[in-house]
Amino acid sequence: MHRFERKGTVFRNKDALGESYRPETIEERDEEIEEYMEALQPVVDGWEPNNVFLYGNTGVGKTAVTDYLLGRLQEDVEAYDDVDLSVVSLNCKTLNSSYQVAVELVNELRPVGNEISSTGYPQQTVFNKLYQELEALGGTVLVVLDEVDSIGDRDELLYELPRARANGNLEDTAVGLIGISNDFTFREQLDPRVQDTLCERELQFPPYDAPELENILRSRAEVAVVDDAVGSGVLEFCAALAARDSGSARQALDLLRLAGEIAENEDCDRIEQDHVERARSRLEQERVQEGMRDLTTHGRLALLAVVSKAAKQETPCRTRELYEEYTALCDSSGVDTLSQRSVHSHLSDLRMLGILSAEENRSGSRGNYYSYELDVPFESAIEAMEDALRLDAETNAIREIASMNER
Ligand code: ADP
Ligand code: MG
Repeated sequence: MHRFERKGTVFRNKDALGESYRPETIEERDEEIEEYMEALQPVVDGWEPNNVFLYGNTGVGKTAVTDYLLGRLQEDVEAYDDVDLSVVSLNCKTLNSSYQVAVELVNELRPVGNEISSTGYPQQTVFNKLYQELEALGGTVLVVLDEVDSIGDRDELLYELPRARANGNLEDTAVGLIGISNDFTFREQLDPRVQDTLCERELQFPPYDAPELENILRSRAEVAVVDDAVGSGVLEFCAALAARDSGSARQALDLLRLAGEIAENEDCDRIEQDHVERARSRLEQERVQEGMRDLTTHGRLALLAVVSKAAKQETPCRTRELYEEYTALCDSSGVDTLSQRSVHSHLSDLRMLGILSAEENRSGSRGNYYSYELDVPFESAIEAMEDALRLDAETNAIREIASMNER
């Protein structure tokens, strides 16, 4: 008997639900596409390109729309002999300075075997090498810097590159910079001179609503999933969940993919809403775990205090009472306690991470106070805590209390 065996009854092309797939059609972004095309029009007309800045939360189609439009642009300008267009794209996720971005760009433009090392040069030397490569290309070059917010305030390249021609660093080549950011605050923290040039044209991609996500899912499911394998209401459910949470197409597609995997694992040949429900809780658990991985010990203990109160059916719970619970947990784990104010700030961070939700109570003369409760399923939270904290005795006790309270 084989140990491994093909299951595949649900997916036609599972990769089409993955990170690297480039859809052939873009749904629901007509307005953004129109504006984007307008910003790119000078390329077609043979003028110097605009610099474009794109922003919006993750999963709202910034990368997909850019790939799609630049692909079309490259095809369509072939009709004009006097337009010579090159596109250089770089994802900056793992790069945290202009220096590193410039090195990567140089290496992308150089033939294999001719790369420069990523350390040891003065920054201006690397920039000059980049100008050399760009100059050698000639014509119009669009430089796409995706997830450019990861360079933080080391943004000199964003200042230099758009001015390269004015400053005499480029002669035969006209560069247009397309910067993409998941974080709008990145724009605000840029040097005002960088803002002026980079954000010449600004495009905002809003979150998707449920009907939009449904259309995106439907067109993707046609490629990715076997015809009869999508149960009734499944796409609607994925769309509704993602719309309620993030408005991200990525999240909606992840839900569908995981639901399909769960279905296949159970030898079902159709994805049902129940599979989506389980996919949701698994993804949520991953998100909590990820959020908790970065928490400090006290952040975790503050969260565990809420988990413990939840087990006793005592949430929403006020900061003061949570603080008592927290102190008790610190005692039993031999950790020194922080002040109530610091614990409150941890609670508010947990709220930002979407792990807790808070309610503001106005109590007249005694001022306002907050009560907190879990914003994720109890089971997800306690499982994640068990992995993160070595507090088996405590988490076991909490579990026992929870089961007595039928949680
Ligand atoms: P962002 O770059 O904004 O984080 P992506 O462009 O990576 O988001 O989109 C996330 C996923 O959703 C990708 O798989 C992408 O193909 C898909 N997607 C997003 N928007 C659309 C759309 N309007 N039409 C079709 N697919 C889309
Ligand atoms: Mg992207």
